[in-house]
Amino acid sequence: MQTGKINVQTENIFPIIKKFLYSDHEIFLRELISNAVDATQKLKALASMGNIKEDLGDLTIEVLINKDDNTLIVRDKGIGMTAEEVDKYINQIAFSGAEEFVKKYKGRSEADAAQLIGHFGLGFYSSFMVSSKVEILTKTYKKGAGTKAVKWECDGSPEYSLTEAEKSGRGTDIILHIADDSKEFLEESRILGLLNKYCKFLPVPIRFGNEKTWEKVEGEKDENGNDKYDEVERPRIVNNTNPAWKRKPVDLTEEDYNSFYHELYPATFEEPLFNIHLNVDYPFNLTGILYFPKVKQNIELQKEKIQLYSNQVFVTDSVEGIVPDFLTLMHGVLDSPDIPLNVSRSYLQSDANVKKISNHIMKKVADKLEDIFKNNREDFEKKWDDIRVFIEYGIITEPKFWERAEKFTLLKNNEGKYFTFEEYKNHITATQTDKDKKLVYLYASDQKEQHGFITAATERGYDVLIMDGPLDNHFINTLEQKFENTSFVRVDSDVIDNLIKKEDALPSKLSDEEKEKLKPVFEEIAGKEHYHILFESLSETEMPVQITRPEFMRRMKDMSVLGGASYMGNLPDSFNLVINSNHPLVTKLNDEKDEESRKSLAKQMVDLAKLAQNLLKGEDLTGFIKRSIEIMK
Ligand code: ADP
Repeated sequence: MQTGKINVQTENIFPIIKKFLYSDHEIFLRELISNAVDATQKLKALASMGNIKEDLGDLTIEVLINKDDNTLIVRDKGIGMTAEEVDKYINQIAFSGAEEFVKKYKGRSEADAAQLIGHFGLGFYSSFMVSSKVEILTKTYKKGAGTKAVKWECDGSPEYSLTEAEKSGRGTDIILHIADDSKEFLEESRILGLLNKYCKFLPVPIRFGNEKTWEKVEGEKDENGNDKYDEVERPRIVNNTNPAWKRKPVDLTEEDYNSFYHELYPATFEEPLFNIHLNVDYPFNLTGILYFPKVKQNIELQKEKIQLYSNQVFVTDSVEGIVPDFLTLMHGVLDSPDIPLNVSRSYLQSDANVKKISNHIMKKVADKLEDIFKNNREDFEKKWDDIRVFIEYGIITEPKFWERAEKFTLLKNNEGKYFTFEEYKNHITATQTDKDKKLVYLYASDQKEQHGFITAATERGYDVLIMDGPLDNHFINTLEQKFENTSFVRVDSDVIDNLIKKEDALPSKLSDEEKEKLKPVFEEIAGKEHYHILFESLSETEMPVQITRPEFMRRMKDMSVLGGASYMGNLPDSFNLVINSNHPLVTKLNDEKDEESRKSLAKQMVDLAKLAQNLLKGEDLTGFIKRSIEIMK
């Protein structure tokens, strides 16, 4: 029997582990199972290098709960440890066992050995977060002197004991005596939940008790002549050891990718739009599958997230800062041993490897999109409405992505036709260049509400883009910065003649003096706190009075609502009431001397303009209808 202090420096480590190591105590299970997986993988590596001759037998890792004595056991049939190794690896935390392993087998198969590096720092000791005592019962795969099974025991103080013990087979049992404040970890449902979260795709089978299933009884039928089934108990294996992202793309069908998607997100029924299988081994290691999901209307409510793995061990599903921001809208898995784990998020964000990975993923996503665009434009257009939000987000936030996406980003017009930027520019240059040689992109954000304006614009021979996505306000701003000599103007922001100013205004039939006199009439009717009264010399065929929403003020308001600046969001909508000073009804109004008739004519014109904008409501609407009937009489 050997007893001693684990390490002179460890005096205070246990309370620290218990309190601060991980805010999430549940992580201990991931750490122990990762160690068990590592020990098993090391064994397999040794065998494949010819260092172990005998049959390895069943290598399934087991998790056992014993409520009677409050223990939870993680059992593996991996390489095990000698007394000396326990002393070295367990007692002297500073030594990384994996590093030793890599050193030892360097030159034989570096790639194999590198696979085995553990990334979990204080891994094993995290078990003290939930245990009052921990035992290790272990027997090495090695033969000969000094290879007897040993038991290490420690109750959370720096003192430990190490004794010879009985153990029938090779491998390691980590026996946790669960502390009173951690009894939840003796509950089957809690452990099953954790296994599902952290261990779902580990490369070694993990068994947790049994499960009941129905099994067909061969050669037997029931009384109705149907196949007969018996209820049977089977070992419950909690993981898929060969997940899709670890397989070769050539071996996978579209169906395999889709079914893996549902394996990742069991609660989601929607099919993904398409996927990108990543497989990089230089200058860093990365595998994974990213899916483009159908985007829900409210992008903030997406609950499925990209899951990050390190050698098939689940690490996190909050990947902000690790993948480019706009890709957080995607689903899928990323697996890389090169992403440092258990370090702070700010460290991750400045880590050079992480940056490289991030850029690489972005490039791959752009490759895939460009590939679909080039080889199957029809398919690309079909998917466009669902993927545009990713692409717009990428363009807004990542200059590098813009360089790629510029070629395949599409704009959709009112007729449902899709154009690349280049194509669209050519499409509208002849008709939508204003007198200052500026190209004007007209757009609508709501096809129903802005129907009147859209019609007016298309009748004029203009093209109208549909920009009704959740990011379009920002997207338009970005495009205005990227395109030269271009502005985006919403169709309802001005009267048709002014949307794209082709020539100087027509002469006005009303003098400035007459306008000044008419202005208060409209101010009184429309309310000057709601409407800004403007006179424009438009053609006689235009409406006498129109309501528009000036582009600049509307954008300020939209942006501030998105950005959360409430002082602007609280502003009332800003409308212009545009009086066509050349319209016969307006000149008639000017000539009208009777005060009453003048008011009612003006009121009728204003209400018509409101009606066209869906702004005439309640009492005003009722009054308008009555008045209209009177006029018709
Ligand atoms: P890490 O896994 O990051 O090296 P741990 O504290 O989790 O750190 O483990 C320390 C060492 O103890 C491991 O590197 C390994 O050598 C040894 N070890 C832990 N668990 C096992 C196990 N189940 N089987 C064999 N060796 C183990």
